Amino acid sequence: QERRSQEGQCQEGRPLARLESIERLVLDDTLRQPLTAPHVAYLKIADGCDRLCSFCAIPAIRGRFVSKPLETIVGEARKLAENGVKELVLIAQETTFYGSDLYGKPRLAELLERLETVAGIRWIRLMYAYPLFFGDELLERFAAAGTKLLPYIDMPLQHANDTILKRMRRGIDRAGMEALLERLRSNIPNLVLRTSLIVGFPGETEAMFDELVAFVKRWRFDRAGIFPFSSEAGTVAARLDGHVPQSVIDLRFRKLQNLQRRIMNRFAAARTGKTLDVLIDGPVVEDDGNPVENVFVGRTYADAPEVDPLVYVTGHAEVGAIVPCEIVDARDGNLIGVVS
Ligand code: SF4
Repeated sequence: QERRSQEGQCQEGRPLARLESIERLVLDDTLRQPLTAPHVAYLKIADGCDRLCSFCAIPAIRGRFVSKPLETIVGEARKLAENGVKELVLIAQETTFYGSDLYGKPRLAELLERLETVAGIRWIRLMYAYPLFFGDELLERFAAAGTKLLPYIDMPLQHANDTILKRMRRGIDRAGMEALLERLRSNIPNLVLRTSLIVGFPGETEAMFDELVAFVKRWRFDRAGIFPFSSEAGTVAARLDGHVPQSVIDLRFRKLQNLQRRIMNRFAAARTGKTLDVLIDGPVVEDDGNPVENVFVGRTYADAPEVDPLVYVTGHAEVGAIVPCEIVDARDGNLIGVVS
């Protein structure tokens, strides 16, 4: 009922709005959306990894953690901005360790501060923040950030049960993670938290899985990638005892995924009726390659490219612009809006 009245309101006020066709677009996976728009750039700040997560083959493949010098990254960001990039997505195998190898201490907070000064960059998004090294300085950077550093943190937590976390060799227990989550949520206004979780890790009992479910219900992550455990050759986890049967992994995966979907749907529904800044990634494109007139796909600060839901908007907008949009509906976690 509420949805219908919002649609009605919107259509009355704005002749350009074509919400019935947007609804089809949101649900039609065959329509092509721009994945990496030219105004979005992934900026790698380091490579390799010194952590020893037992399920991960990356340290063996990519070698030790090597940071890119701070000035090099700032220079790259300037060049990207000159070429029209508006959103920087900072990546590494894990970002919070940035600088430790080069400078003897983490310097991610300082790097973020420097990147905020780069003219032309509008959004800075941090991905892959390992919880163990998320220190006070970094938290203060987020808490004090201006408009460029987005209050969006992608922090893979992987599990909630202490025995499993130990078997994963994460170096942090549930209490440590929850203390950090509490500090993040209470200090960073409008924080959007994304995490990654693995279900069916070797040794995971039904009770341990239930603990993970309760953890997700307690923290209600705004975004999460749920992954069924799969054995990587050569990793410690592959040699662990207690491998969970695939049928059980699949069941647990579906259960947690459904829970997360409900959480994200509620998050999206709570954003309807608000006016949000949307970065316009491109026009919605039909099967025949033609753009749909005045219908665009974009993202708010809560939506990382390629992994998070989208915003479908109608109205006049420039690709690459950040425009205020009135959110009139939510479908499957995606938002539908009208350029204000
Ligand atoms: S999961 Fe991430 S932090 Fe852990 S070893 Fe692999 S790359 Fe490093």
